[in-house]
Amino acid sequence: MTDIIINIGYLVSAALFIFGLKGLTHPRTAVRGNLLGACGMLLAIVITLTDQNIVSFEVIVAGIVIGALIGLVLAIKIEMTSMPELVAAFNGFGGIASVFVAGAVLIENNLETTPPPLVQATVAIAASGLIGAVTFCGSLVAFAKLKGLVGDAAVLFSGQQVINAVLAILALALSAGVVMDPTSVFLYWLLVLVASALGVLLVIPIGGADMPVVVALLNSYSGLAAAATGFVLSNNVLIITGSLVGASGLILTKIMCVAMNRSLTNVLFGVLAPTGGGATADEVYAGKVKSTSPEEVALLFDAARRVAIVPGYGMAVSQAQHSVANLAALLEERGIQVDYAVHPVAGRMPGHMNVLLAEADVPYESLKDMDEINQYIDQIDVALIIGANDVVNPLARTDPTSAIAGMPIINVDKARTVVNIKRSLSPGFAGIPNPLFALDNSLMLFGDGKKAVLGIIAALKDT
Ligand code: NAP
Repeated sequence: MTDIIINIGYLVSAALFIFGLKGLTHPRTAVRGNLLGACGMLLAIVITLTDQNIVSFEVIVAGIVIGALIGLVLAIKIEMTSMPELVAAFNGFGGIASVFVAGAVLIENNLETTPPPLVQATVAIAASGLIGAVTFCGSLVAFAKLKGLVGDAAVLFSGQQVINAVLAILALALSAGVVMDPTSVFLYWLLVLVASALGVLLVIPIGGADMPVVVALLNSYSGLAAAATGFVLSNNVLIITGSLVGASGLILTKIMCVAMNRSLTNVLFGVLAPTGGGATADEVYAGKVKSTSPEEVALLFDAARRVAIVPGYGMAVSQAQHSVANLAALLEERGIQVDYAVHPVAGRMPGHMNVLLAEADVPYESLKDMDEINQYIDQIDVALIIGANDVVNPLARTDPTSAIAGMPIINVDKARTVVNIKRSLSPGFAGIPNPLFALDNSLMLFGDGKKAVLGIIAALKDT
């Protein structure tokens, strides 16, 4: 009877997770989705605690309090631009937890005089150790690269793929050893050691700029490790949540790869760099770039009916979202229709722009995705680009040898006038020049994103 109640409870929490994930697919329902997921997690924790009386409640409460405090401080202090590295750290903790839980169960099995564990359990122990250790060490490298603790350049050396292949084969052989001899704690820790080395070596050849994709993939691995640990502990809810994390991490990885027009193999084994065939910055810009001032931009707005604001990484860096929302409100007061054109990989993490604009209370109806705005971009009088570069670079359409060839972009070059706010002519993440800045209908407003927008607001109020 108790088992039935526990499993029904787990089923309810699994349903809450699924509805939570569904809610997270749209900004309007995201907060509710998050809340549903949190309720599911609370229910799962409460049921697990009442089900398994191995650890005393004092220890559990102490753990919850310490964990909640650390989580609270991190959530309050973390900058939005540092979110990918926080997620990388969380993935790593998930991975190492799986390693320790599976290791502890293996040691426990050795101490007990009960019959040997089933093959299903030993396979799960080996999988937890293998995937958990790869996730932990891979996530540590991703965290260090994103945080700038180590250089974010791709570390490449000859024979790298061969060494990785040898380590992968060794890790699989050790896993088979653990499955066949479930009393061998030594083999298990050797497996963890080899898998840790593999985790490091798999992530070091990936450049810092591709790290968000890798973090999404490691997120998926941490889910798989948790699901394996669910089999080790015979805990249904851990199996379900682990599988959900594993699957959603993979879907997110795929979405990011598609939006960057890159295959997963290219992200994992290739290096994003200019292919060498393209024009240099001098050839693209020399004598063709026109700079403008906030006052001139205000005059452009005076004559405009439709405006599209295109945010990018620079808006996040300069924290210009509130000023941008104020500018849009001012334009709307003057009868101008303002849309925000949001590219799926603008910024440095999925949904980066949506999160920042939601923080500034921009209404969801004003956010247009790339495909939608591209349909009527030629009717836009002024496209105001704030710190975006690659996601508006027409080379993606026109130069098949370019590093971003084929990446879907927001076609702002087809708008009547384009105003680019950025500090210089420096390239964006892909490291290539952007011919958009040299077009006849394009103007550069050089400066920090937030300051430039505040300048336009002041000039508009003066007119
Ligand atoms: P971007 O191509 O990296 O360009 C950002 C621009 O912002 C830079 O050219 C920089 O120029 C400008 N900038 C920086 N600080 C600024 C400031 N304080 N004020 C004003 N401008 C500032 O950014 P993006 O157009 O958003 O494209 C995102 C890129 O990241 C894409 O290539 C995408 O594939 C990649 N990526 C995205 C994700 C994701 O999940 N979103 C993940 C991995 C990779 P200045 O230095 O001249 O100011």
